[in-house]
Amino acid sequence: MNRVLNANKRLVHWFGNQSKTKQLLSPSRDNWSATKAIINNELEAIKSSGVWKSERVITSKQDSHINVEGRTEKVINFCANNYLGLSSNPEVIEAAKDALDKYGSGLSSVRFICGTQDIHKQLESKIAKFHGREDAILFPSCFDANAGLFEALLSAEDAIISDELNHASIIDGIRLSKAQRFRYKHRDMNDLEDILKNNQKARNRLIATDGVFSMDGNVAPLDKIYHLAQKYNAIVFVDECHSTGFFGRTGRGTEEFFNLTGKVDIINSTLGKALGGAAGGYTTGRKELIDLLRQRARPYLFSNSLPPAVVASASKVFDLLTQNSSLTERVERNTIAFRTEMKSFGFNILGDNHPICPVFIGDARLASTFADLMLEWHLCDWIQLSSRSQRKG
Ligand code: PLP
Repeated sequence: MNRVLNANKRLVHWFGNQSKTKQLLSPSRDNWSATKAIINNELEAIKSSGVWKSERVITSKQDSHINVEGRTEKVINFCANNYLGLSSNPEVIEAAKDALDKYGSGLSSVRFICGTQDIHKQLESKIAKFHGREDAILFPSCFDANAGLFEALLSAEDAIISDELNHASIIDGIRLSKAQRFRYKHRDMNDLEDILKNNQKARNRLIATDGVFSMDGNVAPLDKIYHLAQKYNAIVFVDECHSTGFFGRTGRGTEEFFNLTGKVDIINSTLGKALGGAAGGYTTGRKELIDLLRQRARPYLFSNSLPPAVVASASKVFDLLTQNSSLTERVERNTIAFRTEMKSFGFNILGDNHPICPVFIGDARLASTFADLMLEWHLCDWIQLSSRSQRKG
């Protein structure tokens, strides 16, 4: 009898706990309504500041002429970072299809567990060769390459000195590291020099810059940065997302543009823009750096391997780029022609002689209206948001 009573008590106790757990798990409307109000306020603030971002939906391949939802005619595309037009290149697509058949859709693993195929290794060595470096490491994106680098390489005794308008992923990557952080005014070499001078006691100094700044299309003064790095014993990191494949005489990027080939210590870049446009990023540099990143870079260690089709398409792009420089030369001719013609119509085109040609409208709302009108005229443009905080993402 006692045994039955005890079992009964245990059962009542178990049910009691279950219903308490249920209460805890069921989302309370009141809890969410506070969150909802916060979100709605935030959304309203974004809308009323005129910087609301909406998506234009493309219904064709990425290209210079595209189809967009709600329109029957093609529009001319001015806003993709498809600098070399390789996102829809037939050879690149074919390479991806073949890899899909031979290597499958994905690895279901991070690289060091069971996510490395021969094509990953081949692509890494093509990248290193392209840049004239000892080794390279792939990441799921350049955002991840930037997120992985600084934390793995630098610690509290070190200093990172970064251009104030560097890309959001560099800023976030630097935030993850324990190094002391300094920002110099955009492309201001006096400011950079002052910071370098004041930080000679740090164990190591790293200068971080975009090679080309994507919002303004202007080029970092890498020759001067390199000179200061030599003078104050610092290493140089450059994000080449808006340079690799098409900037510099043979598309080797900003260091080639300044005749500094091989001098930059660390290069990060993306496969998601000029280099086929699919996805992926990388770091290239000296062997010991890449060895360290394979052991310590968290996005490499804890995120899935790049899919075979993506690896193969990027690999084909590097083959095309090493065959000859005709694509790079065409981009340069087109850039000069576009900038010259637009200026002759009275537009204010910002930046240096780079394919990013920001047409400066000067007001976020007007820019948005202008972009809508461009779509009416069968031109698809990207609206650049004017405030600095928006630029940094
Ligand atoms: N760095 C710069 C300068 C960029 O413009 C971008 C992309 O917009 C990234 C990094 C991130 O590259 P990914 O798209 O490969 O993450």
